[in-house]
Amino acid sequence: MKRNRRVKIVATIGPASSSSKVIERLFECGADVFRINMSHTSPEHLRELTDIIRDIEARQGHPVGILADLQGPKLRIGEFEGDEVTLIEGQVFDLVSDDTPGTSRQVHLPHPEIIAAVEPGAALLVNDGKIRLRVKERSKDVVRTVVEVGGALSARKGVNLPDTIVPVSAMTDKDRIDLEAACEVGADWIALSFVQRPEDILEARKLSHGRAALMAKIEKPSALQHLTEILELADGIMVARGDLGVELPLEQVPGRQKQITRAARSLGKPVVVATQMLESMIQSPVPTRAEVSDVATAVFEGADAIMLSAESAVGDYPDEAILMMDKIAREVERDLHYESIIHAQRAEPEATSADAISAAARTVADTLNLAAIVCYTGSGTTGMRASRERPGRPIIALTPNPGTGRRLALVWGLHCVLTRDAQSLEDMVDRACRIAFQEGFADPGQRIIITAGVPLGTPGATNLLRIAFVGEDGAGAL
Ligand code: PGA
Ligand code: MN
Repeated sequence: MKRNRRVKIVATIGPASSSSKVIERLFECGADVFRINMSHTSPEHLRELTDIIRDIEARQGHPVGILADLQGPKLRIGEFEGDEVTLIEGQVFDLVSDDTPGTSRQVHLPHPEIIAAVEPGAALLVNDGKIRLRVKERSKDVVRTVVEVGGALSARKGVNLPDTIVPVSAMTDKDRIDLEAACEVGADWIALSFVQRPEDILEARKLSHGRAALMAKIEKPSALQHLTEILELADGIMVARGDLGVELPLEQVPGRQKQITRAARSLGKPVVVATQMLESMIQSPVPTRAEVSDVATAVFEGADAIMLSAESAVGDYPDEAILMMDKIAREVERDLHYESIIHAQRAEPEATSADAISAAARTVADTLNLAAIVCYTGSGTTGMRASRERPGRPIIALTPNPGTGRRLALVWGLHCVLTRDAQSLEDMVDRACRIAFQEGFADPGQRIIITAGVPLGTPGATNLLRIAFVGEDGAGAL
């Protein structure tokens, strides 16, 4: 199973794609990681889906990543007397702690901590930002607003507060239950929604206890203000353009996408670009030109992964959407400008042996046009540092640890293979050559470059660089 691209594809599973047959087809079309949205999935269903994915993984003989996406503190208004009300520009509209059904003058806001936190002048966006309210004044039980952009409003619509640091933890009670369920079923990544502060990651970390990697979804302006600290604490990051585009003026999202992608690449943490990438393919077998261009932009920028949401979860053309992403990625990565663009954002190695070795491996592989870089990685750190270099030649990550292989499924350019730790230097060379040959990356007579740590199998000790010839039957020739 060799993909002919470096960027990875994350596909969200949903009603259109919950059966084993469909999920396996999505894998074959190119999905590297499956995202399960806990807003719409019970812990029981999460277990069923992970069982299905692990079966597929065993059949396909290739690590597959599972990303459980927690709902987070999504704020919602309460109920109305009738089906819906219409808000008119300039009118007063109150959000109140009283839970009697709402009218066109007021509605229940079942979040007392929000009523206590908003300041006059702050914006309140309702229903994906379609309705905009401006806070005029606030008392203990009432937030009085003026309608700036009106429209129809019905029960339980979402509320975004772009100007307010909301004094709620990033994790609701439901999130805690879902996080525990995700850890128990062995999800590889857990995504945290509406992260606002670095502490939000620490809180999740206490609960996950190293059982899964943590991805911070950047969808709040306050997260952008603390981007560096959040990136340092998280294992990966998502440009969650759906909510980000509600909380920020839409026209700022592309620049922010670049900022977030570059910051993550610089630290060597995987970054996923998400939401509406091929939105029209929910209903159409072909995307718009603008969508193709959007996917291409993320690939040119060197994102680790590009994501499908509704396209694969509820759309009519999940296979086609993945095939389309795959085609766009392969074309971009072959493009004349690709290398110079990716290279321009390459970060300097940090002063560690893993970085120095990874940088040297890239230079040697590119200079000698070697068939592949093969890196032994136990925890996955060395694999991620090799990927951070964004080398022009393929990278094969060898690990004895299935969890590492699955986590690295999300990471740019890494083709992961499970194999025992090498027993000797000779075994190390031989194993790397055989796997590069068997997996279709190297032909007999070609050379590869190997990175490893000596003593073999010691975590965090990458200190060895070795060029080796692939022999006649794929065996390593010393
Ligand atoms: P969501 O997150 O799909 O869970 O809302 C992604 C986004 O906001 O873009
Ligand atoms: Mn979101």
